[in-house]
Amino acid sequence: MLQNLKQSFYTPLCLNCGSFFVCDHLLCETCFLAFFKNLSLTDNRHAEFKHFFLIDWTPGESDLISEMVYRLKSDRSVKAWRYYAEVVAHSLADQEDLEVFDAIVSLPGSRADSVHAWLFAKNLSKALGLPVLNILTKSALDRAQKSKSAAERKSASLENTIQVDEQFTRAELSNLKLIYVDDIMTTGETFKRCQQALGAVEKSILITMFYRPRARQT
Ligand SMILES: [Zn+2]
Repeated sequence: MLQNLKQSFYTPLCLNCGSFFVCDHLLCETCFLAFFKNLSLTDNRHAEFKHFFLIDWTPGESDLISEMVYRLKSDRSVKAWRYYAEVVAHSLADQEDLEVFDAIVSLPGSRADSVHAWLFAKNLSKALGLPVLNILTKSALDRAQKSKSAAERKSASLENTIQVDEQFTRAELSNLKLIYVDDIMTTGETFKRCQQALGAVEKSILITMFYRPRARQT
């Protein structure tokens, strides 16, 4: 409730035109229809695994999307995550048989204070009626990484610190069909590391709000 008020209070303007008549999706209705009419999940055919995303984000190409990412990654867009999670749920129901999925897993963020994947997962869980499994955690080691360079930190945090909660055995996990959730996918490296940690790979899918393709050449 407080967080809902927070969004209403802090984000009174449409991301695109600055109108005061802004909705949960962070735009006014006119702009939303202009940019995101028929918004639905796209099957990412470039990924080595099954990946769906809602919005294609190539930085520099669209100020609106960059602004949207920025706003969603702030701490005042709780209602927006709920809105887009519901869009994702409806769209997924059109493309996949939802009956086969057992649970949702949010990918651990690259930063300890990154909660957006979790927020997205929680709302998707509500919309799809599936539980969220908190099985991927980051170890204390990760917090020690802060003193290292960005590159060192990146490789270390991905390779060493994604851990699977011991409440499940690998065999149990391998029987689950999971929907992994993250806010943005770039290279998919985090997802691949998580899959390595979990085992159960081929049956699961990844859903992200944004897809930020690296070095897209034209
Ligand atoms: Zn507008």
